[in-house]
Amino acid sequence: MKNLEYVIVGAGPVGLVFSLLLAKQNQHSHLLESRRKNDSHSDKRALALSYGTKLILENLGIWESLKNKVSEIKDIHTSQKNSFGRTLLSASQYNLPALGYVVSYGDLSKALEEAVNQSSNIKITYEFEVSAIKNEKGRPTLYGGNEDFSIKTPLLVLADGGKNSTELIKGLKKKETSYNHTALVTKVTPEIPPNKIAYERFTSMGPIALLPNGLKEFSLVWTGKDEDIQELAKKSKKLFLEK
Ligand SMILES: Cc1cc2nc3c(=O)[nH]c(=O)nc-3n(C[C@H](O)[C@H](O)[C@H](O)COP(=O)(O)OP(=O)(O)OC[C@H]3O[C@@H](n4cnc5c(N)ncnc54)[C@H](O)[C@@H]3O)c2cc1C
Repeated sequence: MKNLEYVIVGAGPVGLVFSLLLAKQNQHSHLLESRRKNDSHSDKRALALSYGTKLILENLGIWESLKNKVSEIKDIHTSQKNSFGRTLLSASQYNLPALGYVVSYGDLSKALEEAVNQSSNIKITYEFEVSAIKNEKGRPTLYGGNEDFSIKTPLLVLADGGKNSTELIKGLKKKETSYNHTALVTKVTPEIPPNKIAYERFTSMGPIALLPNGLKEFSLVWTGKDEDIQELAKKSKKLFLEK
């Protein structure tokens, strides 16, 4: 059976979901993950999930265990600073339960890993950093961890978050375009509860998004030129909120 395993490098959301989809088709996979087990569960980064992603998670039976941790976006309020008017999109206009959802990376990873652990079709090895992938005698050969080994696999999937693919596979070229933009990501607690509304505001500095995260907080994503965001990040809490 080992020879028929799909090998997936990276057990982030993409690798985990992919392995669960394969398992649903009775396919076997082996996930190789450089992080320690459970390390990702404390990652508070907010992920905005589309309605389509919700359907995939429902199909995999994950949504039920996750739904108490997820904040719905019922309305999206879009505006431009110093301009008149705003646009309001509502889930009800489209007969959808919600326009999107917000969940922390840690909660999503935990729910996915629990499902992976229950599947006899999926094997996951933590603290295994793949350092190179070569094509040897027509089959992908993975190097890394404490020992080098080769696995014959019908499909090798790179789900490493795109960080080091070019270092792993010789000859692979990556094209990167810098927008000279950085995002500042934090949480804010407003006086008025979020009430399932997401805000998108365009400013001369760059767009700002406020995503409802729980009953009391918003996840704030503020993008702008690298130097402006670095200045912003240095401000005291008081000056930051005034800005
Ligand atoms: C602050 C922040 C906010 C974000 N907000 C959003 C959002 O709102 N919505 C959204 O869709 N996306 C958001 N993203 C992007 C989101 O995090 C990624 O889209 C998502 O994590 C991609 O999942 P992934 O599984 O492809 O990669 P990752 O989550 O990066 O997972 C890759 C995994 O591969 C492992 N790995 C990497 N290299 C190796 C190797 N050589 N050997 C073994 N293991 C390896 C890593 O340890 C990691 O666990 C955000 C990102 C950040 C940083």
